[in-house]
Amino acid sequence: MEAAFMTQTILAWSGGKDSTASGILAKLHKLPLDGIVTVQPDPYKAEAQMIERFESFMEMPVEVIPGPMFEDFFYRVKVKGANEGGIYGWPKMYQRACSRYLKWQPQEHWQSKNPNTVMIVGIAADEKKRLVGLHKSEDISYLEQLGYTQNAARQLCMEYDLLNPIYNFSHRLGCVRCPKQSLSSLRYTRMLEPEKWQWMLENDQYSPVSFKPGYTLQELEERFCSQPLLPIPRKLVASVYQAHEADAQYTEISDEHKQVDEME
Ligand code: SF4
Repeated sequence: MEAAFMTQTILAWSGGKDSTASGILAKLHKLPLDGIVTVQPDPYKAEAQMIERFESFMEMPVEVIPGPMFEDFFYRVKVKGANEGGIYGWPKMYQRACSRYLKWQPQEHWQSKNPNTVMIVGIAADEKKRLVGLHKSEDISYLEQLGYTQNAARQLCMEYDLLNPIYNFSHRLGCVRCPKQSLSSLRYTRMLEPEKWQWMLENDQYSPVSFKPGYTLQELEERFCSQPLLPIPRKLVASVYQAHEADAQYTEISDEHKQVDEME
């Protein structure tokens, strides 16, 4: 068979526990795996080392699919509807326009350019509703095939030291600037990503949608400033220090974080 027509089995890797565990299982059980792709519209710096570790473990590169970044969505102009001509601004809490634009469309575009592919997706054996959708597609799940639940996937990632560090403060992964994070998660984001947080503060005024229902980001910032600092999870201490040493204006906050760490 000509190489151009051979089916390639590709892992759709999000950096999360389920797709990471899918890769680990492919390696351990010698299951078909020809490549790894990911879409990263707004990653945390702390996740960069995670990619390197995963590539090293998998002994193959992770291809980052090119696509729009978070700021492209924020300033994207609406072409229809009541707010035609205005920008999107912050993603709305109960709409998925950002996921479609930032994640699904780039991956679908990549797949249209690589038609002979079967995608391995990180859907666990206990995600019954998602599996129903999976079975209607051409995609496959190694977690389902091997009976791995979400908890088992997490344990496997921990066993190989490949659990995304963002799980240290958030049960979900996603964009740094995502308003759908919990308030606690946002407080950690503020510590870990001072440059993006500053971008958020500066651009908050241009969004036609408030950052969270009933709150602008500026109001949340004032609230966070009045709250005691959160303890830094051990796996993120280096990332917090690096983030703040890179920008002199955050030295004072960094020092406060060091005090928190010393108290632990
Ligand atoms: S993580 Fe948040 S901002 Fe990013 S695509 Fe998903 S919902 Fe949208």
